[in-house]
Amino acid sequence: MHDVVIIGGGPGGYAAALYAHNFGLSVALVEKERVGGTCLIRGCIPAKTWLETASVYQTVARSGEFGVRAAPPTLDWPAALARKNQVVDGLVNGLSGLLRSRGVEVHAGVGRAVSGGVEVTGSDGSKSMLPANATVVATGSVPRSIPGYDIDGARIVTSDQALDWPTQPQRVVVIGAGAIGAEFASMLADVGSQVHLLEALDQIIPGMEPAAAKTLGRAFRKKGIDIKTGVQVGPPDLSGPGVKVPVGDALLEVDVVLVAVGRAPVTEGVGLEALGVAMDRGFVTVNRETMQTSAANVYAVGDIVAGTPQLAHVAFAEAIAAITHIATGAVAPVDYRAIPMIVYTHPETASVGLTEAQAIEQGLDVEVTDHGMRGVGRAIIHGETGGMVRIVAEKDGPIVGATIVDPIAGEIIHELMYAVGWEALPAEAAAFIHAHPTISEGIGETLLAAAGRPLH
Ligand code: NAD
Repeated sequence: MHDVVIIGGGPGGYAAALYAHNFGLSVALVEKERVGGTCLIRGCIPAKTWLETASVYQTVARSGEFGVRAAPPTLDWPAALARKNQVVDGLVNGLSGLLRSRGVEVHAGVGRAVSGGVEVTGSDGSKSMLPANATVVATGSVPRSIPGYDIDGARIVTSDQALDWPTQPQRVVVIGAGAIGAEFASMLADVGSQVHLLEALDQIIPGMEPAAAKTLGRAFRKKGIDIKTGVQVGPPDLSGPGVKVPVGDALLEVDVVLVAVGRAPVTEGVGLEALGVAMDRGFVTVNRETMQTSAANVYAVGDIVAGTPQLAHVAFAEAIAAITHIATGAVAPVDYRAIPMIVYTHPETASVGLTEAQAIEQGLDVEVTDHGMRGVGRAIIHGETGGMVRIVAEKDGPIVGATIVDPIAGEIIHELMYAVGWEALPAEAAAFIHAHPTISEGIGETLLAAAGRPLH
């Protein structure tokens, strides 16, 4: 009998398994592939590795601006792909070792939550039972598609296949300008592919501040990305060698279509229906304080949870909350108010807390302070002055949200994570001194302005 059996070895599942060590729980984890899940194997890690290749390419391409003469770069796509695989393999192996060192039993197979534990079906069809006091379901998500766009893995693909393209696609339509679509568009354009980025809503990166979307859009157009917002695609024409995609009056002829319209939870065949677990459109409804489902001793974390962001770091936090409750009975809820969200495009767009529109929707009376990176010394040194900082604060009250656009926005957003999390007043946060010259000074200037006494 295990204290906990976990179904799924992605960020939600492996974090639960690792964290359980703190309480001396006996843990088994059931995984049908390698451990690592979407994030390590076909999500965050490989995507950011490709983006790093694009960034290095651009550094070389722009080197002349910095007085460094170099031949125009060429991309060795197979070498970049091999490096991506090496990064992924390294992390997967490291994770396997870590799980082993923490005494987690990893069982290969498909897990199904049943009364009293988890049933495991091996690759040979054999079934075994892992009895457990508590079960954590962390089965993750898979890419969605749209009608007419059947994923064939060659001409119509999702991020699953795009991360393993054997050669560089020259002309690409990306459907959906959320995090996945925007990141692929950025990466491909930076290494010289022709990219059309199509979005049904009226801005790219729809969850983010419109001002940030506009700033990123400007950078994207400079790279040559053709952005179309507020559009619907017609059915693709696959009769020729490529793909023809009808959009309004235009017919875009490309080599490949990347569909990036969101991810669906993997909750079928996991045993949830039979256990009577309450669901909402395929997602699992949980007690947000403890991550308990409506079935006794069954918890859910990560991308399958209804109403919480599909982000690896959210899955980590939910795993910690679930394991803490399982081990101690204590309630240690995830603080969903201050979750950083980063789109790793070039430049990056990062946000935390509420946008202005979300704050107004919640009935808050807010003041917005914007500051451009144009006058920030280090941004000029980087040759990257198109960025911005926005801080949203309640009138005479705390900071409730922030957004940054800059090549290193994803690193520096975290100081505003503390500001939002600790409900700092702009004047309190502005009292601290930022080092000069840094990109973070852009935040310092915004805080001073938000406190009513701008400096520069
Ligand atoms: P998403 O929901 O963030 O974006 C999908 C986009 O596709 C939306 O903007 C939507 O309006 C658009 N869309 C839907 N149907 C369309 C259509 N028919 N035509 C044109 N546009 C259409 O989903 P995603 O980008 O696929 O990412 C999936 C999940 O993974 C998200 O929750 C995302 O936050 C997460 N993710 C996060 C990161 C990150 O944090 N950097 C990176 C990748 C994925």
